[in-house]
Amino acid sequence: MFRLTVIYDNNANKDFAGSWGFAALIETSRETLLFDTGWDGPLLLRHMRRLNVDPLSIRKLVISHQHWDHIGGLPEVLRANPWLEVYVPASFSENLKKEIEKRATLIEIKESVEISQGIRSTGELGDEVKEQSLILNTGNGCYVLTGCAHPGIAVILDTVSHYGKVKGILGGLHDNEEFERLKNMELIAAGHCTAHREKIKELFPETFVEIEVGLHLNLK
Ligand SMILES: [Zn+2]
Ligand SMILES: [Zn+2]
Repeated sequence: MFRLTVIYDNNANKDFAGSWGFAALIETSRETLLFDTGWDGPLLLRHMRRLNVDPLSIRKLVISHQHWDHIGGLPEVLRANPWLEVYVPASFSENLKKEIEKRATLIEIKESVEISQGIRSTGELGDEVKEQSLILNTGNGCYVLTGCAHPGIAVILDTVSHYGKVKGILGGLHDNEEFERLKNMELIAAGHCTAHREKIKELFPETFVEIEVGLHLNLK
């Protein structure tokens, strides 16, 4: 089982502030991982404090893609925890990779690779904007965690399906219109940059979950 907590999103419940961007925490039985950092680092750390998450408890930071609303909190997170392993798409700016390397262990991702037990990167996907998503394999199937899903839902899900049945998708879905690919999922948690949120909600009222800061999900 993985416990996922949204700690940064455009929307927030009353205890938090909404701000453009995305970040989620994944807790496994072995370790804690952070996926993306939103854009406002101090706000991200404030949300962590309110959720009783010690930045030093995070072992691994995975960055989906090099857009300001996903990497903005990087300096604060690296300052709060000098022992992080940071997984970035290999196509990241060379200068940014050098800066990260000064403050953390940098791991560049090209192909799909296991990052933690049961958790794997899709590898760098897409042409214009290269992005990695995370595949969370619970043993009963896979959940996909996306940043903005720029490569497109179909491309991402085709990759994920190599690793097991796709049970759900979480994160930003950008302006994707490949709605038929969301059929038969048990969970569609769309947030951040999802342009067609209302449409997706309308099509899949049973499985749709609104993402907001403070949302906890137990993925089994
Ligand atoms: Zn983006
Ligand atoms: Zn984004």
